[in-house]
Amino acid sequence: MKRLLLVVVLAFPLFAQIPSPSQHLKLDIGKDRVLADYKQIREYFRALDAASPRVEVETLGKTVLGEEMIMAVISSEENIRNKARIKEIAKRLADPHGLSDAEAERFYREGKAVVLVTCNIHSSEIASSQMAMEWAHALATANDAETKRRLDNVVLLLVPSLNPDGQTMITDYYRKYAGTKYEGGRLPWLYHHYVGHDNNRDWYMLTQPETRALSRAVYHEWNPQLFVDEHQMGSEGPRMFIPPFADPLDPDVHPLIWREVNMVGSNMALRLEQANKSGLIYGYSFDAYWIGGTRNTGWWKNITGLLLETASARIASPVYIEPNELRGGTKGLVDYKATINHPNPWKGGWWRMRDIMDYERIASDALIELAANYREDLLRNLVTRARAAIAYAAPRDAYRIPRDQRDYPTAQHLAWLMNERNVDVRQASNGDYWIPLAQPYSRFILEMMEPQRYPEVKLQPGRDILRPYDVATWTLPLQMGVKVERAPMPEGLTRVTEIKPATKEVIARGEKLARKPKVATYKAWQPSMDEGWTRWLLETYGVSVKGLSAQEIQKGITGFDALILPDMPKDILATGKRRSEGAMKYEEEMPPEYRGALDKSGAEALRKFVDGGGTLIAFGDACEYVIDEFNVPVRNALGGVKPDDYVNPGSLVRLHLRTDHPVTAGMPSETAAFLDSPIAFETTAPASDMQRWVLATYPEDDQDVLLSGWIHGAERLTRKAAAVAMTYGKGKIVLFGFRPQHRGQTHATFPLVFNALWWSVSGP
Ligand SMILES: [Zn+2]
Repeated sequence: MKRLLLVVVLAFPLFAQIPSPSQHLKLDIGKDRVLADYKQIREYFRALDAASPRVEVETLGKTVLGEEMIMAVISSEENIRNKARIKEIAKRLADPHGLSDAEAERFYREGKAVVLVTCNIHSSEIASSQMAMEWAHALATANDAETKRRLDNVVLLLVPSLNPDGQTMITDYYRKYAGTKYEGGRLPWLYHHYVGHDNNRDWYMLTQPETRALSRAVYHEWNPQLFVDEHQMGSEGPRMFIPPFADPLDPDVHPLIWREVNMVGSNMALRLEQANKSGLIYGYSFDAYWIGGTRNTGWWKNITGLLLETASARIASPVYIEPNELRGGTKGLVDYKATINHPNPWKGGWWRMRDIMDYERIASDALIELAANYREDLLRNLVTRARAAIAYAAPRDAYRIPRDQRDYPTAQHLAWLMNERNVDVRQASNGDYWIPLAQPYSRFILEMMEPQRYPEVKLQPGRDILRPYDVATWTLPLQMGVKVERAPMPEGLTRVTEIKPATKEVIARGEKLARKPKVATYKAWQPSMDEGWTRWLLETYGVSVKGLSAQEIQKGITGFDALILPDMPKDILATGKRRSEGAMKYEEEMPPEYRGALDKSGAEALRKFVDGGGTLIAFGDACEYVIDEFNVPVRNALGGVKPDDYVNPGSLVRLHLRTDHPVTAGMPSETAAFLDSPIAFETTAPASDMQRWVLATYPEDDQDVLLSGWIHGAERLTRKAAAVAMTYGKGKIVLFGFRPQHRGQTHATFPLVFNALWWSVSGP
């Protein structure tokens, strides 16, 4: 009794000194037009760490621009002291190879629920980065019995911003224009140095340092059982999406994942409804099929992952939504009204960052509550899933990545990637890599190695097939052009500890040339993620590249050998505006320095550049712009196709290549390529002042087109050209209808991009 009293007396004044984020930062956190930037957030978490025995801040790594990424570990004082032991148990349960039932039972009793919450990966979805500080402060200071019970059972890993560089860009831009008519408007560039919004499309390929840093913490260090990623969506729909997810689902994910997702989500919705928060929806928009997002990847690795999406304000400025502006129009809510998955629609009115923070906070507390209530179930279920994954295959059932490859460095990169994902990878003395399937991540390995067959789900007989949220495929051997086979693994191989990726050699053939080409991309004020990925690809492989604005292009393109038009709709390239039928024509005005598109003078400058000897390279949709603006013997055969007659959300297709052209040099005669835009070329014989080469064609038979994913209307691609090169004046044009460097994933077709660049400085 005396000791207890002493603890209380000692603890109380200590806790009383822990400042709230508003006190510490001298900012009214959560108030209209107030934002803490990333440095302030990090500073606050460091202060919490110093003041509270319940909080410890860990460094995850560095961002692209060199910022420190942090994660707060929040739990009871005792759990923080026992951090190493808790991690050890979580790791043992995540890989229960050789774990006896008796041992497992002891760990279920002793172990803690490890719960990861990531905020603000999409930087304009900023409320969660502010909420995280308030939530951490509440957990560090509350002395009620219920909070203490939760913290005794749960270790919370809280990442206040998964994209610190972007958080800084958004707060800087917001502050700069606060109080002007541009307040709360969109950023005129990507909110991640390379990949913008696609930073949440990187979670199996791990191209960016932020992705790799969190992935290490999740799969190598902490092995959480629950993972919640907090986002925001548009302003004119439901107030908050909380799982259950929408169809389709990947039937290869263990069903206990969905049972836990639904249980956690239902508890969040219950607590929000009890707090009179309206506008909650489930079974909406976001599906259970796609693997690329933060928490999604975990589904195949036995981790229960949830996505939260709250309606947005204008960054930290409030919005007023008229009731008639509220709309559905998406899978799970066609018309804006009460439905079983949306029983209490929000009625319209003011919506502010404070509202978003309040919704997020209630949901986040409900997560911790449930994790504390079901701590033992969560640990038990994880082991059930991991054991089922191990039992999936016989001990020698494995994938072999042979040493004998057309492109060994890329094969090695695939082995590196799997090892980085904490997959058990082994190597034989002849250099072959082996990936056994009897391991906890067998579902993930299968998902990565095998072609996707899209689950064609209909909600009523005779109705449409539900479309996927994102792309329909991710098969690594096809995307990367690596030969992988399923075969019995030799005995006695041990796990590799490190694989050094040898990626720089992949595109080395260009180094034989006398000089490197000088390369520019078009960097529009309507930022294109494909432009960012292009810069990422070229810089990663040692080619420097300059992004040119519309204004710079209009002045005349000099000093460059090649210019790349990234995948963007032709109207956006030409005018900066979308021209689709019936669409809202209103667009917010940007500040004068960030306005404009290529327009007439930009198109003229591009023609002059090519006429004078430059090489113009277009990806995906941008090909249509070139077809419109240049007199080329090419048309898009899918240009007028009705949306229901041809559907391809993003699939891997088979291409036949000619191999006697500089752009296809060194390529195999057949490859997989990633196609999403409705683009397939027809060409015609040009006049004698021009040469044109069909570089790649789709197969004759429509059954041969699709390699992985889902295409409705594949017969429309047969015998069409997928890539075309031509001379034009003194210069050259190369059109890639597919996406040769899509999201930094399509290694199989990377060489085409580099070859096209080398072609710009070599003969015709
Ligand atoms: Zn988002």
